[in-house]
Amino acid sequence: MNFSSLSASSASLHPLAQYGWDEDWEAEFAPYAEQGLLPGRVVRVDRGQCDVVTLLGTVRADTEFVVPRDPMKVVCTGDWVAVDPEGGDPRYVRAYLPRRTAFVRSTSSKRSEGQILAANVDHAVIAVSLALELDLGRVERFLALAWESGAQPVVVLTKADLVPDPVALSYLVQDVETSAPGVPVLTVSALHGDGLDVLVAMVGGGTSVLLGQSGAGKSTLANALLGEDVMDVQAARDVDGKGRHTTTTRNLLALPGGGVLIDTPGLRGVGLFDAETGVGQVFSEIQELADGCRFQDCGHESEPGCAVLAALDSGELPVRRLESYRKLMRENQWIVAKTDARARAELRRDWKRKGAEGKAAMEAKRRGWR
Ligand code: GDP
Ligand code: ZN
Repeated sequence: MNFSSLSASSASLHPLAQYGWDEDWEAEFAPYAEQGLLPGRVVRVDRGQCDVVTLLGTVRADTEFVVPRDPMKVVCTGDWVAVDPEGGDPRYVRAYLPRRTAFVRSTSSKRSEGQILAANVDHAVIAVSLALELDLGRVERFLALAWESGAQPVVVLTKADLVPDPVALSYLVQDVETSAPGVPVLTVSALHGDGLDVLVAMVGGGTSVLLGQSGAGKSTLANALLGEDVMDVQAARDVDGKGRHTTTTRNLLALPGGGVLIDTPGLRGVGLFDAETGVGQVFSEIQELADGCRFQDCGHESEPGCAVLAALDSGELPVRRLESYRKLMRENQWIVAKTDARARAELRRDWKRKGAEGKAAMEAKRRGWR
């Protein structure tokens, strides 16, 4: 079978374009196309096999040949893969394309490993309910996770019908905007349909995920974006290659307006995993201020010439922002230390540096252990 006749210029007309296939993927895939392999996107993974949408429809494929030791490298929902068109059911995944973005969470195991939850996500839609008091710290945590993945975050304030006063609503939007530099903030009411068009236009064409606390309105948003009941779609009875009817649960769903939504178990309420870069991006104004500190390693505690503390004094930087920044940095450090032996060792060295007293205490402890 030869699919290379579909030239790069026709990438947008490609049947997989709806799933995010574009000219860059086509270029990446070229060497595999030469081998006669078939491009496809993983819509679901379970027990060493996956469902892949291809030009032949959705096929079942074994990932046996691409299973590495590193759990960060296992095939996951959203990956673009090269499927061997030959062979029966299941077929075989021969390779997967380098990921543009990836959502990772820490595993419960004690090893320094993350678990990959979704790949090649363009938009991280963070749902925040207006039915509850705004928890900006929580928004910032989701933002850190989103930035860290490489996806562009969008904050969607849901249930806007519960805040009928436009002035009150605009203040809430402003509060979130100051906590989310570089991030669009939308208001949506799934009940009335308000603001959905703006969201659809923003995420259209790309790959999106929904993040947010339970009850934030994610399922309702997903239904609205999909234009039908998600459960109906997910349980759609597919006819597989052999004419059997199988009930499939897809974790990657095509949106009627273009683009796809990834909704994998565990992704919605995921915690931070080594998200220092992401945390930095959430608090980009603090990082910019820090560039103006006299000392490069300024801790912004009591150092002379600290630009961050000066901005606090002048009221330019809200105290809450700095506290939230510190909290997330500490939380991240703790997670890294918990999961990564090397980071843990470094932290220990840090503690040791904290003076003779601490050092003596540690020595005493160590002697006690032996
Ligand atoms: P999830 O847990 O994040 O998936 O949240 P759901 O989508 O299940 O929504 C939680 C609750 O909020 C449900 O009772 C919804 O009916 C309600 N809800 C969702 N969107 C809206 C909205 O736009 N307006 C109002 N008033 N309620 C909503
Ligand atoms: Zn400083």
